[in-house]
Amino acid sequence: MKLYRNASLKRFNSLGFDSTAEELIVARSVDELADALDTTEPITILGEGTNVVLKSRLRGRVIRPTMNAIYLAQQMKSSVLVSVGAGVNWHELVRYTLGRGVGGLENLALIPGSVGAAPFQNIGAYGVELDQVCEGVEVFDRERRTVKVLPASACKFTYRNSVFKSSLRDRYVICSVNLRLGNRELLTQYRDVDQLISGRSRTTLTPTTIAETVIRIRRRKLPDPRQIGNVGSFFKNPILSESDFDRLCDKLSIEGHHELQGIKVSAARLIDEAGWKGVVNGDAQVWPRQPLVLVNRGNATAHDILDLATRIADDVHRRFNVKLETEPEILGSF
Ligand SMILES: Cc1cc2nc3c(=O)[nH]c(=O)nc-3n(C[C@H](O)[C@H](O)[C@H](O)COP(=O)(O)OP(=O)(O)OC[C@H]3O[C@@H](n4cnc5c(N)ncnc54)[C@H](O)[C@@H]3O)c2cc1C
Repeated sequence: MKLYRNASLKRFNSLGFDSTAEELIVARSVDELADALDTTEPITILGEGTNVVLKSRLRGRVIRPTMNAIYLAQQMKSSVLVSVGAGVNWHELVRYTLGRGVGGLENLALIPGSVGAAPFQNIGAYGVELDQVCEGVEVFDRERRTVKVLPASACKFTYRNSVFKSSLRDRYVICSVNLRLGNRELLTQYRDVDQLISGRSRTTLTPTTIAETVIRIRRRKLPDPRQIGNVGSFFKNPILSESDFDRLCDKLSIEGHHELQGIKVSAARLIDEAGWKGVVNGDAQVWPRQPLVLVNRGNATAHDILDLATRIADDVHRRFNVKLETEPEILGSF
């Protein structure tokens, strides 16, 4: 296990920001992870850096878990239990499972980042969230210094949230994720997916064709972070109470989706309606094809992006009385 001092994180964040970690350790096994965590320094866990805004300096120790094993742990007639190391790339996992004829992750194709980060914010796209396929999460418990498996019910998954991101944020490091997969009814009701497959006979649809459809939609809408720095959606879709939703509808015509916690509305629609599409701040820009995405056009800094995000959120609040919550984690100090 190697420790790097004053390490540049520029290659390890999809916004491509210059940021320096006082210490950086790559942990290739659970034992190396346990050793790396054995310090009094502040700890930051970093996956592939596709959902973080890094300020110029990260104090203490940054640890990148790279455990990369995939086990098809248990096979039953209609489902397969897959155990996947935190360091595996999420889309590689989607390809791996589809390539073995195992469906379940097709709607989540092409989400950037690592498997270990997926439970952190309960990743989701095109009508599916991780919690629909997650059976449990193996974690290193920093308080007890042991490894244990949390069943999905203990992870308290909700829309872009979990215990890992909220109440138990600094206690657990995710080592691997157990997924219950298998071919089940294909979920095609999401509008963009439905439009692209309309006209096709349902009998010709497979998990792989759905994944290909999702990949086409994502490539059309979202900038490729390898070419244009971004972290995907910068804001969560707000969830409103019935009365707040009614008040918003008095101001503009907007669809609401009923969820357990309230009525979810599109943050992109609010940002677009407020006129922010394409707006530039320094070298940061609101992506013209998807106003939820803020991009680094080349030399943007964390300051440019955060300033732009604050101006957007303030304006949306002023116009529509809706609070936008940031989705990526903002780490470090200037
Ligand atoms: C173009 C683009 C499109 C995107 N589309 C989507 C989408 O459709 N849906 C969606 O949900 N997200 C989306 N995202 C966001 C991102 O892909 C996910 O949040 C992804 O899970 C982040 O993975 P990562 O490895 O890069 O995590 P990082 O950015 O490295 O980390 C994110 C957070 O997770 C924590 N973390 C990471 N690994 C671990 C671990 N092993 N244990 C404990 N905590 C950990 C980190 O401390 C950090 O707080 C998109 C991002 C981009 C750039």
